[in-house]
Amino acid sequence: MIQVNGNYLKLKAGYLFPEIARRVTGFMEINPSADLIRLGIGDVTEPLPNACRQAMKLAIDEMGTVDGFRGYGPEQGYEWLRQKIAQNDFQARGCEISPEEIFISDGSKCDSSNILDILGDGNRIAVTDPVYPVYVDSNVMSGRTGELEEEGRYGGLTYLPISAANNFEPELPKEPVDLIYLCFPNNPTGAVATQEQLSKWVDYANKQEALILFDAAYEAFIQSEEIPHSIYEIDGARECAIEFRSFSKNAGFTGTRCAFSVIPKTLFGKSKDGKLVELWNLWNRRQSTKFNGVSYIIQRGAEAAYSSEGKSQIKKLVSFYMENSTLIKTSLIEAGLKVFGGDNAPYVWIKVPEGMDSWTFFDYLLQEANVVGTPGSGFGAAGEGYFRLSAFNSRENVQTAMNRIAAL
Ligand SMILES: *Cc1c(COP(=O)(O)O)cnc(C)c1O
Repeated sequence: MIQVNGNYLKLKAGYLFPEIARRVTGFMEINPSADLIRLGIGDVTEPLPNACRQAMKLAIDEMGTVDGFRGYGPEQGYEWLRQKIAQNDFQARGCEISPEEIFISDGSKCDSSNILDILGDGNRIAVTDPVYPVYVDSNVMSGRTGELEEEGRYGGLTYLPISAANNFEPELPKEPVDLIYLCFPNNPTGAVATQEQLSKWVDYANKQEALILFDAAYEAFIQSEEIPHSIYEIDGARECAIEFRSFSKNAGFTGTRCAFSVIPKTLFGKSKDGKLVELWNLWNRRQSTKFNGVSYIIQRGAEAAYSSEGKSQIKKLVSFYMENSTLIKTSLIEAGLKVFGGDNAPYVWIKVPEGMDSWTFFDYLLQEANVVGTPGSGFGAAGEGYFRLSAFNSRENVQTAMNRIAAL
């Protein structure tokens, strides 16, 4: 009989979202008329911006003409989209990133896991705890970790705890590491990293000859002027960092799919015999072999995110979610809870009340307020005692959820 990839068997069985679904289903069976409000999963809820939709419609009609029809596009993405990205997201912020260094993809989730394809097995890996589960699971699946150990941690990974105790600032690892996953603004904690904190990581990575995998999926939600939107705002980052960006959360492309990775041409790794290898070349080769690009229609939609209408519509979307976030935060503080995040990210990270753990608080909110959130422990051992509420919902639902929690 064929063999399966045994690494998959190391994965944690009772994964977070299925367990949430199980508990919610169980609750609904007993309370079929309950009006549940979901502030759990990190998916957007507002419609696609009009500018993006119009651009996609035009692109569909173009595809219906002989002259406008397009087959396979460049695996790296269309030049016109990469130019807009380089100009608007990077050069406008003083980051020296060229269109050639941008690779369009169908998601940051895929990019942040696929990147392991071009990196060796022997790299020592650091993740924050709590963490976006994709970084950990993709390392497990590709055989880069040991077995699942106590507290749901995997052998072989270096965990960097982030909690109120360190102000949600990961500390530099005590043992040397080669790959560091950082996500700012952070999912799940909603924390952001200052210029100073990011500089600390860039300096560390350059000194260690390590690589930072920087996930900036939530950069559009940054409200404070002084918080960097890109790792490349930090001197030296071109020598040590890959950045992942996505149209999912800012432009509502979670169902439409478009994202990109930035691989500066100044990034190198070593081959076994000690030769320097350009990471850009490997990623270009990887994408050209395993990927056939994102739909022309969708790339035109993403391009429209950079038009003046697109920018203002996205700004409105982000403001809408951030108003939800503020509403959640202020209501919970009034209700006597201790909360973090929510100022520069669409996530509010709640310290669960004394005497409860993350899952007890989950059940409590589900039963008493019919509100579904996400237990912090599902994102890692150091997330125990915390709970995530997301700002992705209608104003009415957020307001109702907060009224119910206030009444508890
Ligand atoms: C939502 C999210 C993304 C975006 O993923 P896509 O595949 O582009 O939709 C990336 N990173 C984090 C941490 C996220 O929460």
